[in-house]
Amino acid sequence: MDFSLTEEQLLVQRTARDAAERLLAPKAAARDVSGEFPLQELAELAELGLLGVAVPEALGGAGMGPIAYSLAMMELGRGDASVAVAVSVSNMVAELIATNARPEVARQWVPRLVNGELVCGAFALSEPESGSDAAAMRTTAEKRGGTWRLTGAKQWITSGDRAGALVVWAVTDVAAKHNGITAFIVPGDAKGLTVARLEDKLGLHGSSTAQLVLDGVEVGEDQILAGVGRGFSLAMQALDGGRIGISSQAIGIARGALEQTIRYAGERQTFGQPIIKHQAIAMMLADAATWLDAGTLMTLRAAAAKEAKQPFSQLAAMAKLFSTEHAWKICDHCLQIHGGYGYVRDFPIERALRDVRATRIYEGTSEIQRLVIARNLLRGP
Ligand SMILES: Cc1cc2nc3c(=O)[nH]c(=O)nc-3n(C[C@H](O)[C@H](O)[C@H](O)COP(=O)(O)OP(=O)(O)OC[C@H]3O[C@@H](n4cnc5c(N)ncnc54)[C@H](O)[C@@H]3O)c2cc1C
Repeated sequence: MDFSLTEEQLLVQRTARDAAERLLAPKAAARDVSGEFPLQELAELAELGLLGVAVPEALGGAGMGPIAYSLAMMELGRGDASVAVAVSVSNMVAELIATNARPEVARQWVPRLVNGELVCGAFALSEPESGSDAAAMRTTAEKRGGTWRLTGAKQWITSGDRAGALVVWAVTDVAAKHNGITAFIVPGDAKGLTVARLEDKLGLHGSSTAQLVLDGVEVGEDQILAGVGRGFSLAMQALDGGRIGISSQAIGIARGALEQTIRYAGERQTFGQPIIKHQAIAMMLADAATWLDAGTLMTLRAAAAKEAKQPFSQLAAMAKLFSTEHAWKICDHCLQIHGGYGYVRDFPIERALRDVRATRIYEGTSEIQRLVIARNLLRGP
């Protein structure tokens, strides 16, 4: 396998790194306290092409592939995990519409998602009573004449209160079960769409997480993605790709924490020497660096398979499982190495630990990744 990156991929990586260091990292601690939504930052990232890295150029995107996207997400995760999750979901939504809407509908939405005019996109699949078991959703869509009326509630929707465009899943045929779910594009200002509450989370304070209510929201037939009844498989495909983004985000958070910790361990002295000289600390750092490298390679391998249009569902599930579980362990090691200073807000480590925790839950919990992996094993090669 060739691990060398192209000039274009390196350019995207440099652009994202520079944006993360210049625009995101300096404000990340303050945003964690204030919970302020990163409106200005998203606009600037849109200007740099980072809201549509893998979106075709014809629709205003950068026209790059999943590898460049993964590299960008790693950098943004290192800068500010809250902004990174909004960017990740928005890229996923833009790609979903670009590849599954009618051409004129894609032209209506995607360029404005990518250039920041719509702020960002949101992915509205989960509900109060259905997360892992997405097919158990209760939101319905009923056809009346040429329009569909959506009624129900969506839970945990990243940027749900800010997004200019949402993809919302609803049941269109109860009897057809998985084949009776349809994905609709819903404008953020649609009549009947309201924010019922914003969640008060452990971490990712700069990312808003909304409960949404749909009360007879009217959507045109042309705003259906991939066709009536195709929504469930579309969601599963989108999540396969989304898992590469979340795996990358976790790697970025862990990398930032580890870099900070290596610096700290070289400076902090106990018993007459820097703590990095104590073997117990050096071993923790060695484990963390090894996990980080393995997670990075697994993530880029899944992205390379997607880029080569090969099956990548298994690789993405394995990458997300490994990277997010180990990113959590890395951040925990980093906190331990900081001693008491790791537990307070003066250092960025406790924020990294709180932020990274969500990556083991969203876009499929670790348990669900294991189910996906095991199912693929049982199917055989
Ligand atoms: C910060 C944040 C942002 C999010 N953003 C979005 C978003 O933008 N859009 C969106 O649609 N959703 C979003 N989610 C929702 C997220 O995807 C769900 O929380 C996740 O899929 C789990 O669903 P649940 O919370 O209902 O847990 P449940 O499905 O109720 O699961 C509870 C526990 O049971 C386990 N479990 C469930 N089924 C099985 C099984 N068959 N075998 C073994 N264990 C099982 C789970 O792993 C978990 O540990 C977000 C969540 C968070 C926390």
